[in-house]
Amino acid sequence: MGSFSIQSLRLSKEIGLRLAVLGDPVDHSLSPSMQNAALVSLHLPYRYGRLHVCPSDLVEAFDLLRERDFIGWNLTLPHKLAALELLDGLDPAAQSLRSVNTIVNRSGRLFGFNTDGAGFVAAIEEAFGCDLRTLRIAVLGAGGGAGQTVARHLAGLGLPSLVLINRTVAKTERLAEDLAAQYKTEIRIEIWDHLAEVCGKVDLIVNASSVGLDGEPIHEGWRALEPRHLVFDMVYGPHETPLVRFAREKGARATDGLLMLLHQGVLAFGIWFGKPAPDRVMRRALWRAAGRV
Ligand code: NAP
Repeated sequence: MGSFSIQSLRLSKEIGLRLAVLGDPVDHSLSPSMQNAALVSLHLPYRYGRLHVCPSDLVEAFDLLRERDFIGWNLTLPHKLAALELLDGLDPAAQSLRSVNTIVNRSGRLFGFNTDGAGFVAAIEEAFGCDLRTLRIAVLGAGGGAGQTVARHLAGLGLPSLVLINRTVAKTERLAEDLAAQYKTEIRIEIWDHLAEVCGKVDLIVNASSVGLDGEPIHEGWRALEPRHLVFDMVYGPHETPLVRFAREKGARATDGLLMLLHQGVLAFGIWFGKPAPDRVMRRALWRAAGRV
């Protein structure tokens, strides 16, 4: 299934289309595969689509989906922040992460949730079988949408310290100020050029930057990886990402972002339907859609 524009959705009589992911771009999204597999397996008569919405059309899109009695929807780049202003209520996670990725339509009133933070934790626990609170952690790309969410979530868990790296340092400075006002976590700002030194001082390195799938060379600093390291690359594609491959070659344990995509989707389904999602079905569908099986 391709994606819909809001104009085409207005005109179409897509029977059963009652859930969607909104993004710009959105064609690449794998969410429909796992969510539709879940709907089919539970015999729910709905479908989940991709809706291409540019930032200037976000308000109109929300009105249309509310009018069309959509059950809910997911948000991806670049709407997770802008949506905060368009909702009737926010759950505590969305409020503290300042980001919404899941919306529920309750009789025309829209409520925002964030399942990215909890999805990230579930992915780390599944991949590495450890409690995040015991780890020294660095977040790369901490000024981007995904990086800020992860950093805020980690500070909210009460981590003693956290290292933040971002190409545009002003973004990590703003984030660090914000975190210092709310949490006790000691924040250290570093630059990409110091990646090797940072590796020497942390256990888990999270790549939340979008660097990784376009054939860029691996940053020099990654050469400092050792077998004791855990590497979580939020990027994902049909094959292991260059960073995951490199980390594994250095003997480190590494995983990519597909697991996080799965877990945030499982949690979103639970919010829409108030019951556990069929996670094994969703996992199989997602892995197939990503070209992994
Ligand atoms: P975003 O808001 O556009 O942020 C992009 C981040 O990458 C920023 O920190 C940016 O730094 C950095 N960056 C871009 N090009 C760079 C370069 N050449 N060198 C160094 N840093 C660079 O995007 P996002 O939504 O946070 O997404 C980031 C990545 O996470 C994407 O690959 C996305 O697919 C992935 N993601 C995965 C999941 C999942 O479920 N697995 C969820 C969300 C996102 P500046 O601030 O300096 O521009």
